[in-house]
Order: sequence, then structure tokens, then C-alpha cells
Amino acid sequence: MVIRTAEQRADLIEAGRRCGIILETLAGEVRPGITTAELDARAEELIRAGGDDPVFKGYKPEGANRPFPAALGISVNDEVVHGIPKGRALKEGDIVSLDLGLSHNGMIVDSAVTVSVGKTDPKSYALMDTTRLALDAAIAAAHGGGRIGDISHATEEAFEGSGFSVVKILGGHGVGAEVHEEPFVANVGHPGTGPEIVPGLVLALEPIANAGRAGVHMLSDGYTFATKDGSRSAHFEHTILIEEEGTIVIT
Ligand code: MG
Ligand code: MG
Repeated sequence: MVIRTAEQRADLIEAGRRCGIILETLAGEVRPGITTAELDARAEELIRAGGDDPVFKGYKPEGANRPFPAALGISVNDEVVHGIPKGRALKEGDIVSLDLGLSHNGMIVDSAVTVSVGKTDPKSYALMDTTRLALDAAIAAAHGGGRIGDISHATEEAFEGSGFSVVKILGGHGVGAEVHEEPFVANVGHPGTGPEIVPGLVLALEPIANAGRAGVHMLSDGYTFATKDGSRSAHFEHTILIEEEGTIVIT
């Protein structure tokens, strides 16, 4: 668990501001007919225009047999996370998760949103709303003096009674100098357990939920997770910085 210096925190806040603007821009460009490869190219263009680096491109997580080939993770409908952009054209009614990471002055941030392509169905809107609210609940539970389990529990609780299933094997993480750092932040757990949340800690919180059952499996591309039952999945993520005065959502 790494505690960032004042200078690093300032760079992180600027990195987060840039990441947030780019993600909002990309979400605004989602429309029927656009391909995931076009969205990825646009993400890389916008990141590099700011003099920053796309950190997912070339990133090789432990256990992967090749680096991730894109700047933007794009997961459509039953794809859960880590989707690889290809020539797929988005269709009216699809839901699409855009997951963006960038490095500014060596500081890395990570953020994701799920949006509909044009208008979608009521169940997909409810899934996206519930998952976004779970991220709000997770952020509200993340404060100095608490424990990582408080965040996990708040996330899990946000899905209770919703009819949707939080994905248990994926979750949030420390971030800053690397894309994935300690601690892992599970999306289910018990309050008062796990590492202490201390000022200077930077976390990427990311609830992920399926409209059907919680089971997910990895596709043959070695990156994309998809739901086992074919139901749709939503994903929202912010990078946050814990400060003495309170928690800052930096993306
Ligand atoms: Mg992410
Ligand atoms: Mg992440």
C-alpha cells in the first residue's frame, strides 16, 4: 500500500481531471454505427493530445500471454470488463462500458462508465443506475480511519434487493504508479475488515454487476470477461484520493 506525496497528489488530481474530461467526451461520441476500434483510436488521440500516455496499451497483467492492445477497454452488452476494441459496430440499444487509464507526469488514474447506444430497455437503464449508485456508496464508505472492507460491504449492500448480481471475482485496486497496486478492493465483504484506509492512499473503485447471475468467464482472446448466462453487465469506476480533510474523487 503506497502513500503519495503532496507533489504526486497534485499530479494525480490533474491526471484525474484529464481522464474525466476524455471519458466524458468519448461517452458523448457513442452512437449507432461507430466501431469500438474508432472509439479506441479517439481515446488514444485525446490522451496523446494532452501530452499524456495511454497506460492500458501495452500493459501486461500477471498471467496474460500478451499485452493489452488498446488504450480503451470496451465491453459491450454481455461483455463485463477488459473488452478489446475491434471492428464491432455499436447498435441502437446496446450498452457499452468504456474503461480508460492514462498517465500524467508518471501518475496513473483509471475510470470507467457504462452508457447506452441511443435508447435502451428499462432493465438495462436500471442495471446502469444501480451500478452507478453502488459506486457512489463505495466512495461514501471510503474515508481515512476506515477499512477496505467498509468499501466492499457498501458496494455489496447497494445491490441488495435490486435483482442484479454483483460480480465477486473482479474489483477495485490501488493505483498511482502502476495500473494495479495493493490493496485489492473486493465488491463484497465485511465492514471493519481488511487494510486500514489512510490519507495519501489512492484507490480505483469499480462496482461491476450483471443483470442475471454473477458468473463470468474469460473469452478466448485472453482478456474479455463475459457473463456466463449471456445477461448484460455494467461497470462504473472512479479513482479517489484519501485526504485528511476527506475523500476526493479525482476522475
Ligand atoms: Mg478501469
Ligand atoms: Mg481499475
